[in-house]
Amino acid sequence: MPNAPIPFLDLKAQQRRIATDLRRRLDTVLEHCQFILGPEVRELEAELARFCGATYCVGVSSGTDALQIAMMAEDIGPGDAVFLPAFTYTATAEVPLLLGATPVFVDVDPRTFQIDPAHLVQRIEAVRAAGRLKPRAIIGVDLFGQPADWPALLDIARRNDLFLLDDLAQSFGGSLHGKMLGSQADATATSFFPSKPLGAYGDGGALFTESEERAELYRSLRTHGEGKTRYEVLRTGMNGRLDSIQAAVLLAKLAVFPEELSARERIARIYDQRLGNAVTTPKRVPDSTSAWAIYAILLSDEAARDRVQAALKADGVPTAIYYPRPLHRQPAYSAQHDGSGLPVSEDLAGRILALPIHPDLTDEDVGRICDAVLAAVS
Ligand SMILES: *Cc1c(COP(=O)(O)O)cnc(C)c1O
Repeated sequence: MPNAPIPFLDLKAQQRRIATDLRRRLDTVLEHCQFILGPEVRELEAELARFCGATYCVGVSSGTDALQIAMMAEDIGPGDAVFLPAFTYTATAEVPLLLGATPVFVDVDPRTFQIDPAHLVQRIEAVRAAGRLKPRAIIGVDLFGQPADWPALLDIARRNDLFLLDDLAQSFGGSLHGKMLGSQADATATSFFPSKPLGAYGDGGALFTESEERAELYRSLRTHGEGKTRYEVLRTGMNGRLDSIQAAVLLAKLAVFPEELSARERIARIYDQRLGNAVTTPKRVPDSTSAWAIYAILLSDEAARDRVQAALKADGVPTAIYYPRPLHRQPAYSAQHDGSGLPVSEDLAGRILALPIHPDLTDEDVGRICDAVLAAVS
């Protein structure tokens, strides 16, 4: 069966690898029945903080809720401008809007797809000059597994007195300049959606920060703004808690996560080597490692992309398009945009194509995917 479809993501194969530890941890939760913020959540928070070198970790209900809690803690709302890349998942822009703030879209680097610091500076200056909104925050996104340029973003944030939030939803496990991602910004939000590099069996997320004050606020906000006791309400919060079953799953997966990161890296290198002369393969951010949530190639134009995608599908090779539309072109957000061009984001959306990259791909699978891509573009 040479054309049996290859899975884009294989959570069943992963489950077989961790089955014993996973069952044991789930059984423990079923025994103690502390289903929300139980002991597994505290254990996970400590393990995650250790893993990424952050001081505080607060487990929350999703990556989107992590972003929202971080923005709520800074009192970001109506009249505030929040700068973020146009080429990212919708949640990054949705959160400022939910809080009444205005997302200001920034273009990305054409080689690494990460937010472009030079364009960010231009956008901040333009907002100041227009005088309608108050620049308040930057959300830097670590796109596809690779890091954004955190030293540059931090410098821009400090010079402009802006809160800097790292949307690490796709890149937990990546590193920059020898340091794991998780403590590069004022706060970091990540996601454990099942398809992320470290994924739960439902929704989940986490916040990281070096500030004790922020960590305390995050704990309060995730539980309805509670104070010292559950029945003291200090502020308007939300139901943003992580549940113990998800934490148990994540603890079992964290044990094998370093091996999985190595496996993803190995596959990325094979793709680079075999496909690099035929298509545009992703350029590495200098002095970094990637969590390889997504391995995206660029084709010459949209027609070529559609043709290659169809040919791969016929060969049993699934692909995905992240993202077919930059956020400033989305019906829900276009009214928020000032109309300026974001040429790189617009160009990428028409030509990008993600290949399968997960730790349970066999060498044979990877070889088949490469053969199929080379055949499709020739
Ligand atoms: C997945 C993702 C989110 C949202 O995470 P959820 O856990 O699905 O809420 C936010 N930002 C980016 C960049 C993402 O990829």
